[in-house]
Amino acid sequence: MQKPEKPAAPPAAGRAARLVHIITFGCQMNEADSENIAASFRRRGFELTDELKKADAVVVNTCTVRQRAEDKAISQIGRLRVWKEKRPEGRVFVVGCAAQKLGGKYLKHRFPFVDEVVGAKAIVNFEEALESQFGPAPDTETAHKNLFRSPQTAYVTIMRGCSLKCSYCIVPAVRGPAAFIPVETILEDAAVKIKAGAREIVLLGQTVNSYRHGRTTFSGLLERALALPGLERLRFMSPHPIYFDDGFTALLASEKKLARHMHLPVQSGSDRILKLMRRGYTRAQYLALLARLRAAAPDLAVSTDFIVGYPGETEKDFEETLTLIKEGRFSLAYCFKYSPRTDKPEMAATLSEGEIEARLERLLAAVRINSRVILNERIGKIEEVLFETETYGRTSGNFALRVKAGGIPGKMAEVAVAGADKNTLNGKVIIL
Ligand code: SAM
Ligand code: SF4
Repeated sequence: MQKPEKPAAPPAAGRAARLVHIITFGCQMNEADSENIAASFRRRGFELTDELKKADAVVVNTCTVRQRAEDKAISQIGRLRVWKEKRPEGRVFVVGCAAQKLGGKYLKHRFPFVDEVVGAKAIVNFEEALESQFGPAPDTETAHKNLFRSPQTAYVTIMRGCSLKCSYCIVPAVRGPAAFIPVETILEDAAVKIKAGAREIVLLGQTVNSYRHGRTTFSGLLERALALPGLERLRFMSPHPIYFDDGFTALLASEKKLARHMHLPVQSGSDRILKLMRRGYTRAQYLALLARLRAAAPDLAVSTDFIVGYPGETEKDFEETLTLIKEGRFSLAYCFKYSPRTDKPEMAATLSEGEIEARLERLLAAVRINSRVILNERIGKIEEVLFETETYGRTSGNFALRVKAGGIPGKMAEVAVAGADKNTLNGKVIIL
């Protein structure tokens, strides 16, 4: 880390606080990291700004899960050149997964105006980079602010990194092996966020349900978190199919505060491809797991991720993915074109860009039709909705829902679902 050659500028004349602009790419883990980064800045008297041109400091929190994400991060950093020319005393921080992959040496050479590079493995030490630029923080606490979801929903990171070795994935390389955060730290983090207004907590980790700390399992952690006063709903993401146990299904059956939604990435419907991907389960095992989870929580909504065009994916493999959409009854699926993350020849894409694109289109069309069916199944049901505004909220199954009036932000209400429009349910509040 470099020491500043000259002190960072005080706020511009007439302005009370210095401003920081944070640009976040990628997953919820990055969003959670950006919230912590924002808190570190706020302890030093900074406020957040949406406007780059007003900022005294800029943070680019990068992603590299697919090449496109890395390219976006690079061009974003490139665009800051002009900003820095106009504001030489401004500070540029590049952090996260692409920063880890590309390295500080490369980034500072290519973009000499970057002041600090903090890779994903060192992101918990971001404070040191700030200290190097702005000096130590005064010993003050700042109230938590949710930046990405509604004010009622807060992220709590329970593990970092990943110890699985899915063949296509760069995450273990850039975030390191799984490291679990101690239970008490997690509970304290959640309690602080509830005190600041959160009613829903989302526990985060790459294989979140592999959590174990001392004798505490994932289910044990959930039980402790569910007991936190003021908590209305608990979510988690992303679980991995190989880590669910009977303790979890029992908890899902008995604990209504545990959201009736799970984002459970499957990646492919073909056993051959799943094996090549080293996912650790077959299509039948995945479907059997869904059946177990739905036996415990019949109204459980399940969303997923698919990768299309994995090396060697045949038309037959792809069709097995297509049929899984209906069989899995997914409420939603994020579909990604395979992006090679290593130079290994066996991991190069075997389909042309056009072929992958065509499969993606077919997959997206099938997902759209299926999602509509699953959404419409909710019509006529009573849903528990956590309202974010007077007219908008989310059901336990994570469906967006609108009412004409009657919702109270931050409060749960029962809503009779009357219809659906595109991706959103609508209905009437019946019990507040
Ligand atoms: N840990 C989660 C899991 O295994 O379920 C997923 C984490 S990853 C950041 C999010 C998603 O990105 C994955 O579920 C996968 O669909 C997608 N992904 C990861 N590597 C990819 C690659 N090389 N090309 C395309 N999509 C990829
Ligand atoms: Fe990547 Fe998720 Fe597999 Fe870990 S479990 S290697 S994060 S896809």
